[in-house]
Amino acid sequence: MHINDAVFLEDLCPKFRFRQWRKSIHRFTGKSCIYCGKPSESIDHVLPRSQGGMSTTENCVPACLSCNGDKSDENAMYWYRKQKFYDPRRAMAIRAWIEGDLRLAIRLLQWAKPRFKENENKNFNDNETDYKVA
Ligand SMILES: [Zn+2]
Repeated sequence: MHINDAVFLEDLCPKFRFRQWRKSIHRFTGKSCIYCGKPSESIDHVLPRSQGGMSTTENCVPACLSCNGDKSDENAMYWYRKQKFYDPRRAMAIRAWIEGDLRLAIRLLQWAKPRFKENENKNFNDNETDYKVA
């Protein structure tokens, strides 16, 4: 299939575009839950749909089923702070994500999870030192 055909197909078929969009959200975090780092199996609405949350990238984060289910209709930041796996770097990443700064969010997540990218382990040690000093 020619690349232009794919773009055309997305325009014609919203379902197809929705699938692509969902995939891209998971790709941002390397298919890991933004809250706990486990494999992401679902998309969580940071502001629940029941409270007017929209299905936009800023409001939708990759989450594992257990986080997604446990959080339910609670405020994401409030809920996350109470979790055993709470990590301030991840909390910052979530905040950056919902503010639309995905690049910052991804950098913070890489920081929180050293094996986010295997070949960045070396850099992580430097970051870890910075973190302890700060
Ligand atoms: Zn999770």
